[in-house]
This record gives sequence, structure tokens and C-alpha cells, in this order.
Amino acid sequence: MIEYLYGTPQPHRPPIGPLSPALQRSSTVGQPDAETLRAVGAGEQGGEFYQRMGHVNGRAFESLVATLEGADGAVSFASGMAAMSAALGAHLSAGDRVLIAEEVYGGTSAFALHDLARFGVTVDRFSSLDLNSLRTQLARPAKMVVFESPINPTLRVADIPAIAAMAKEHGAMVVFDGTFCPPPIQKVLPMGVDLVVHSATKFFGGHSDVLAGVVAGPHDLLDAIEKWRRRTGGLLAPDPAWLCQRSWPTLNMRLQAQQEAALQVAQGLQEDVASGRIAAVTYPGLPDHPDRAIIDRQMHGGGCVLAMEFAGGLNQVLSVINRLQVIARAASLGGVESLSTVPAYTTHAPLTPQQRQAAGISDGLLRVAVGLEGADVLLADLRQAIRG
Ligand code: PLP
Repeated sequence: MIEYLYGTPQPHRPPIGPLSPALQRSSTVGQPDAETLRAVGAGEQGGEFYQRMGHVNGRAFESLVATLEGADGAVSFASGMAAMSAALGAHLSAGDRVLIAEEVYGGTSAFALHDLARFGVTVDRFSSLDLNSLRTQLARPAKMVVFESPINPTLRVADIPAIAAMAKEHGAMVVFDGTFCPPPIQKVLPMGVDLVVHSATKFFGGHSDVLAGVVAGPHDLLDAIEKWRRRTGGLLAPDPAWLCQRSWPTLNMRLQAQQEAALQVAQGLQEDVASGRIAAVTYPGLPDHPDRAIIDRQMHGGGCVLAMEFAGGLNQVLSVINRLQVIARAASLGGVESLSTVPAYTTHAPLTPQQRQAAGISDGLLRVAVGLEGADVLLADLRQAIRG
């Protein structure tokens, strides 16, 4: 039997012994003799050796992710960006060309443009909302296509199977950031994605108390990623891995409850849209979403994040966010606490107003990541903030 240095799906066993798994913090492991030390270190014999080569708590978390995604395995990292940079760094070399969607997380763009480019990788962009722009870019050879959906912070939705199929037709590997909607909301490997990356800081951790990341996919692609992790050292430590495992039994319930609350909030806000207090609410669970047909094909529900737009621009949205009493003003998403941000003032502030407009991000946009406080509480908080 092959022993992988990362977690793979495990058969379910009835719990016998302590129900809470042991936390193993040791950075190294004593061996009975020099020959065993050599053989375990060389990978000729199984067993724990040194924490950077992988550890029991990391593999336990990775096994859960691999099972959830229906993947051969998963490799965990110290953050979502460590996971994304490993997926790209392990598979791209000088002379390769990578196509990064305009709409990806800012950290992914920054890594590609500042770091991959320095190492001789050509970085070109396409719009994940326009298949023609990908087709045009694929007229020249590309090694990899990177994108995500739903798109932050506009909540537009890209056609995952269509993009994956077009990339594959042209021989490009497909890397997808699945952070916004983990399974069962969206399961992307069966849609043609090769590697799915998650910031486990979000839903997998779920309680705003860990920074973590993970990549799931087939063994032939994970092998290089695990080796990258061993050489660069950005693996997930035992404590946050244990916390992610502790969060796992509630993941599905949290996702369902947060998604249901997000839908109720989006529906409840329609009253304020009708009265003109809000210019628009965008949420993939609403019937009038511009990407409705795509959503129906690839998502089970609308996810846990919504966006609303105020005609009064930045001044109005800043007044609204500053009046919130329950929803925190904080970056991130996927935790049990609801969070709000004004992209034009924070994440997308470095862009010019024209660039933001081209990306569909109006200055009056408020993003709300819905937690577990309950839809009634959140609606009341938003209403008092909106109505001033
Ligand atoms: N991908 C997406 C979609 C994100 O929202 C984030 C963080 O906000 C990341 C990746 C990066 O994850 P981390 O902050 O865990 O490095």
C-alpha cells in the first residue's frame, strides 16, 4: 500500500476511545535505532519523522477535506494564500503562461503579478464572466487557468464547467478557489476542475479563530504540492489543524443555516429595494440574479454572502456600515459571526473609481457575510442602519 504524506479519504469507523482526537504538538519523533531513523527519514518506512514532513493532526483534517471534495487527497497549509501559492508555484515554471481571472481574490492576483512574474512565468488575465475573453487568451498556449466563483464582492457567478472544459480542450490545468462556497453548496472537481483550493480560515475553520488553507485534487498533482510544502515549509501547524477538525462536524449545519439566513436577509431587504432605500441587492439565491441559469446548473443554494448597493455612493454606505450594531465591521467571511465591509474603502481601495466601475464594484457597495445570529436579528440590524 502506498503511504501518502498528506491526508486521503478514510473509511468511517465507529468512535472507540476518546471522541476528541489527541493533539500531537511534537516537532520531532524519537526512533528506536539509527537504522529506523534513516529509513523513516528517507521515506522507505512509514511513520512520523519531523513535523514539516506532515503530522497526524494535519492528515486528519486533510482526510476530511478529501472526502468532502471527492478527491484522492488534500494538502493543508498555514493559510489560504500559502495553499494557493503552492498550487501555482508547484506546477508553474519559467517560460510557462498562466491565465488568471480578473475577478480572483486580490492576494492571488498579487502573488501571480509580483512573484510568479519575477520567476519568468507570463501572467495574462481574462474575465471569468466572458467565455470569449478566455477563448481569445487560449489561442496562445497556457499551462494553467485560475478562477473562482461566486465572485467577490459583486456576487456574480462564473460558468465553472464551461471554463474548465475550454481550458482542458487547450491542455491547461484548472485551478479553482472554492473558498466562497464549499460542498455541498458547490462541488467543483466533478465539474472538470483539477485542483480546488480553500482558505480554511473561512467556512472550514468557521469560528474566526484559525488561519488555514488546503488544496484537494488527484494524487498526480498533489505530489508536487506536498513536495513544495516540505521545501518551503508553509504547512498547517497541529493546533489550527486540530481546530479545523473540531469544526468539521458542524460544517454542513453551519453552511445550511448561514445560507438560509442569507436568503432570508436578501429577501427581507427587497422591501427597502422597492422603497428605493437600497438601489440593488445581489445574492445568488434570488430569482432575479443575472447569472440565474448558471447558478441553477452548478450551485445548491446561493451561498452565505450578499452585496447591496446604495445610490448615495461611498458617503451613504459608510454611514450605513458605521451604524451597524450586530454585524461586525471586519474583513473575512465564513465564520459564525456576520461581517460587513465596504470594498471601495478597503479591499478595492487601491483601484481607481474607473477600474472599480469596470469590475462592477460601485463605491456604494456593502458586502455582508452572514453568520449564525439569525435572519431576524440581522435584518433588524441592517434596517436600522439603512433607515438611519
Ligand atoms: N481566497 C479567497 C476567496 C479569500 O477570500 C481569501 C481571504 O480572504 C483567500 C483566498 C486567502 O486566504 P487566507 O487569508 O486564509 O490566506
